[in-house]
Amino acid sequence: MTSIVDTDFGEILLRENSRARGFTFRVREGQMVVTLPPRCTERELRESIERMRPKLLKLWKKAAKSPTNQRQRRHIDWNFRLESEDITIDLQPDATLRDGKFRLTKDRGHVTLVGPADYDFDGEGVQAWLEKVITEQIRSYARGILPARLRELSAQYNLPFGSVSVNAARGRWGSCGIHLQRGETLVDHTSPYVIHLSLFTLLLPHHLQRFILLHELTHTLEMNHSPRFHAKLDNMLGGTEKDCIREMRHYTTSIFHFVGAETGAGESSEDDF
Ligand SMILES: [Zn+2]
Repeated sequence: MTSIVDTDFGEILLRENSRARGFTFRVREGQMVVTLPPRCTERELRESIERMRPKLLKLWKKAAKSPTNQRQRRHIDWNFRLESEDITIDLQPDATLRDGKFRLTKDRGHVTLVGPADYDFDGEGVQAWLEKVITEQIRSYARGILPARLRELSAQYNLPFGSVSVNAARGRWGSCGIHLQRGETLVDHTSPYVIHLSLFTLLLPHHLQRFILLHELTHTLEMNHSPRFHAKLDNMLGGTEKDCIREMRHYTTSIFHFVGAETGAGESSEDDF
């Protein structure tokens, strides 16, 4: 669990800290961040949020007014640029466009949203719409790339799975189960395992993508996170599982964690927790 989604605060980032006794909430760069002790459950966290909601809403509103939060609020405009090893997405103004609409150009892994130079990024619903458009682009590339990578690893490590899908899940990178969702069919009838991957997995560096895919494939051997599960996974990762877990703390299932320094929330340093 690296984040959860809340109706008032959107995506809330979770930061585990072994010295934390309870939950500490902060608003940073327009996003709620909570420091929490290890091994606490999502339910405990959600209960705490419910108890503290009036206080948290006050904190949230106060933070929105503070100049530092405003300056660094997550925002999509001409400076937006998302870059990963598989795709880049950016926006470009075009003064000749007069109909107020965006065009999409794609060149292999490079997506550009070309829009009118005087476009109002603060217009009603504009930010949510742009985020959706960008997310859909990531989804389409993720669908083209991730299942193939999963099949490759599956063959390499002889870990068959029955079906894979790419979804817009937030707060988790992947899952593995034995139940099909509506509309899904088993591709390989010799394996009952269904793997779901979050489209945001595509944005991770390749070695962490591989970590996520192998994690889900390992569940076809062990449907739990027992020491046996970790031993098998760590073995396939050449002893780097712990390093991967540590690195994964820098990423969340949000496009804003993969954008350049000008607009992005980027990586949060842990030093003031
Ligand atoms: Zn797992």
